[in-house]
Amino acid sequence: MGETRLEMATTSTIIEEEDIYRVPADRMLLKVLLVVLCGVPASVSGGSEAQQGPLPLLMVSFDGFRADYLQRFPMPNLKLLYSQGVLVEQITNVFITKTFPNHYTLVTGLYAESHGILASHMYDPVSHKYFHAGQGVDPMWWSKAQPLWITALDSGYKTAAMMWPGSDVLISNRTATHFLPYDVSVTFRQRIGNVTKWLLGNGKEPGVKFAALYWEEPDTSGHKYGPDDTAAMSKVLKEVDDNIGLLVSKLKSTGLWGRINIVITSDHGMAQLSAKRIIRLDDCVHPDEYTLVDSSPVAAILPHEDSKTIFSRLSTCHPHMTAYLKRDIPDRLHYRNNERIQPIILVADEGWTIVQRGNTLSKMGDHGYDNSLPSMHPFMVAAGPSFREGYRISSLRSVDIYPLMCHLLSVPPQPNNGSLIQARCLLAAEACGNLSLGISLVLGILLVLATVILLFRWRRKHWQSRSRAFQRLQMDDDVEPLFE
Ligand SMILES: [Zn+2]
Repeated sequence: MGETRLEMATTSTIIEEEDIYRVPADRMLLKVLLVVLCGVPASVSGGSEAQQGPLPLLMVSFDGFRADYLQRFPMPNLKLLYSQGVLVEQITNVFITKTFPNHYTLVTGLYAESHGILASHMYDPVSHKYFHAGQGVDPMWWSKAQPLWITALDSGYKTAAMMWPGSDVLISNRTATHFLPYDVSVTFRQRIGNVTKWLLGNGKEPGVKFAALYWEEPDTSGHKYGPDDTAAMSKVLKEVDDNIGLLVSKLKSTGLWGRINIVITSDHGMAQLSAKRIIRLDDCVHPDEYTLVDSSPVAAILPHEDSKTIFSRLSTCHPHMTAYLKRDIPDRLHYRNNERIQPIILVADEGWTIVQRGNTLSKMGDHGYDNSLPSMHPFMVAAGPSFREGYRISSLRSVDIYPLMCHLLSVPPQPNNGSLIQARCLLAAEACGNLSLGISLVLGILLVLATVILLFRWRRKHWQSRSRAFQRLQMDDDVEPLFE
C-alpha cells in the first residue's frame, strides 16, 4: 500500500486544514462536537473521492473459509493484508449456512427467506419447478432480490461478476457489464487477470466500479478431507494464501493497489463429519412417503400425505436432529416466510449427517448447520484507502456487508436486512471507533467551560467588592473633611 496510501492520506490532511482555515472557530467547534457526539463523517465531503467519484470496490469470496483457519494456519499474505486494513474475526452468516444462500446474501444484504435462494436444492410449489445449485440460471429463482452488480448499474457504473453464484443469471433482465459463469477449469490467476482488466477499463470505456470474484477453495478440500485434517487443510490453505499474494501483486503491478478498496470474505465455515454420526431417516419414515427436496444437514421434507404423522415420527427420530413444522421455525433463523421452504425441515446437530435410502457418508466435512455455530462462521478482511489500518472487531453480520459496500460506492441500497451502525466503524473516515477519545474531548471541553464560568463569576464578584470598597473610600474621602 506504501506510497500511494501515504499520498492519499497527505491529500486528505491538506483538505481538512483548508477547511479549518475557512470555517469560523465557533462553527468549527460545533463540527467537532457533531463528529464526537453523532459519528458524523469527519472528512468525506469536499475530499478527493467526492470529486472523482467513489473508489472501485473488489469483493473476493474464498468459499468455505472457516473463521478459525486464520488462527490454525500461517496465512502470511492474508495477515499482511489485514495488518494494513481491517479484520472481522467472525462473520455471522445466514441460515442455512450453504454456498448459494450466503453468496446471494453478501450481494443483497437479505436473509435467505427474503432473497429466495434458500438452499442448494429447492422446490417451488407455485411454479412446480426444482432448483439445483450450479444449474440455476432460471431468473425466477433469483428475481426476488437484486444483487449489487445490477443495482450499481443504475448509478451509471460498470460492474463485473466473476463466477459468483447468480452472475450468469438475467436478473431484472440484466447482468453485470462483464461476467463469466462458473467454470472450475479457469484458474485463480486467469480469474484475477480478467477482473483486473475489467477494473482498469480501456481507452473506450471506464473500469468497473464493483467487481465480485469467486474461488471454490478451501471449500472443495474442506468437504473432501474435513477441517480437522490438519495436513490436508494446511496444503490447501497455503494455496489460498498464495492466491491472496497473487491478487495483491497483480493489483500492485497494474497500479490498482491503493486506488481501490478490497473486501475478502467467505460464505460459511466447515464442520468435521464422522461415519459414527449418521442419522438414518429410513429408520423413522419410509422414503416413499415424502420427497427429500434437500438432504443434509438441513433436510427439506415435502410429505406426500398425512404430514402430521410424518412430522410426529421425524420429531422423535434421532436425539441429534431437530424437526420443525414450517410455522415453528425459530424467528432467529429468519427462515420461514417463503413458499419455497418446505412444510417440515430437519436440522442436524453440528457434525451429524442426515441420509436416506441406505446412503453412506461420502465426505468428511460439511456446512449448512445452525448459523449460531462458530464452526459455520467465515471471516472478513478489508483494505484500501477507505478502511482503517490495523483495526479489528470480533464479529459482524453478513447482512451488514451489503450496506457497507453501497456506502463505499455511494449506491442507494435496495431494501435489506443489514445496517451500517457497526460496519461503518471499519471506515477510516468515521469517528465511532474513537468513542473514549470523544468522551474525553467532550468532558475536557465541559471542564474548560466550567472553569471559565467559575473564574468569570469569581472575578466579577471580586471586582464588585473592590468597586464597592473604592466607592466607600470615595465617600469617606468626601465625608472626611466634614469631620475634620
Ligand atoms: Zn460454499
